[in-house]
Amino acid sequence: MLARELKDKLQQAVDDGFGAQLEYTKNLVNLASLRGQEYAIQDLFFRQFQSRGMKVDRFKMDRDAILSHPGGSPFSDTHSDAPIVVGIHHPREEIGRSLILNAHLDVVPTGPNELWSDDPFSGKIDGPWMYGRGSADMKAGSAANLAAMDALRRVGLQPAATVYVQSVVEEESTGNGALMTWLRGYTADAVLIPEPTGTKLVRANVGVLWFQMKVQGVPVHVQDMGEGANAIDAAYGVIGALRALEAHWNAQKGEYANFKDLPHPINLNIGKIAGGDWASSVPAWCEIDCRISIFPGVSAEDAERQIRDCVAQFSRNDAFLANNPPEIIVNGFHAEGYVLNPGSEAETVLGRAHADAFGAPLETATLPAYIDTRVYALYNQIPALCYGPASRNVHGFDECVDLESLKRITKALTLFIAEWCGTETIDIN
Ligand code: ZN
Repeated sequence: MLARELKDKLQQAVDDGFGAQLEYTKNLVNLASLRGQEYAIQDLFFRQFQSRGMKVDRFKMDRDAILSHPGGSPFSDTHSDAPIVVGIHHPREEIGRSLILNAHLDVVPTGPNELWSDDPFSGKIDGPWMYGRGSADMKAGSAANLAAMDALRRVGLQPAATVYVQSVVEEESTGNGALMTWLRGYTADAVLIPEPTGTKLVRANVGVLWFQMKVQGVPVHVQDMGEGANAIDAAYGVIGALRALEAHWNAQKGEYANFKDLPHPINLNIGKIAGGDWASSVPAWCEIDCRISIFPGVSAEDAERQIRDCVAQFSRNDAFLANNPPEIIVNGFHAEGYVLNPGSEAETVLGRAHADAFGAPLETATLPAYIDTRVYALYNQIPALCYGPASRNVHGFDECVDLESLKRITKALTLFIAEWCGTETIDIN
């Protein structure tokens, strides 16, 4: 446990550096790191790691390795080729427990700009909030990882164990970036990812599948055109069948202790739809992009099979689809969920750090969304802590992060690193 005096000094160091931390966070928000456009921001992290005297490893996705791993998701031309960057701190003497601090720098699209109150990449501070796409998810967290290391340095200390600061891409559509760090060989005694979790520790989360359904074919003659005889009508019919599958999965929530109290833990999102060519022509094609979640313990393969069975069964009884069976293409996430086993030493240390920073006990929550922590929980099998600031409108308009919670999260991260890794004085040779 940390001495009271050291705790106070570290918390003060976070306060002293908070202005610079916000400035850096704003710079990150200003860089519109949409999928496939993360080069500049990854180069910035490369330089940031170097300027702190860390060793830096920059590498590409190994597609073959990812595709042959059960946690890998398929690639397409829409997925990012930007590099992954890892900053490595080595202590003089490896005394403490090693740690991975991870963050993703890719952000989701903004949607129509006119629905935002301001430029979506402004990074503007208004009252207790910083606004912008990615401000909460998760540029604030990625900056906090560095700010915590800086706070130690400000009081003349550094972690007495190896710390890997990972900056990854492809968290928002495949999870392949974090998986790639594991396939590259990185591991540690614990990992912490400061996603915007509302200052709670994620106890359990869902797996996620993405798929595209392509309905294509020659529709029946217009005189025979009954209900569901055109590709768009037919696609709506399949959506109904998928909704029934979603309801069936939700009905199983009682079997999952961490999910049974959530009103609707499994969510199917019809995210995108396109089809047809002309108002007076019966449409011969329709494509819908879908995202559905699965309970932890359900494999992505099994869920995919259920989805394919559901669509095939519905199609057999549909006028259009019986002759034109839809094609299903997995075009993103093919990822399982995880449960963080309670009682790990890492969770205990984080609990102490949180209590010092917030003056309240650490609470846990179930997150019905994908997070990269699954890679470390399922494959490294190390304590995987997802814990970060409060936010509003993640993936929506006027996304923003709560700055007071961010400051306290940064304090908790700093205290966590100091106790988990131990500390040594900075070598000023
Ligand atoms: Zn995120």
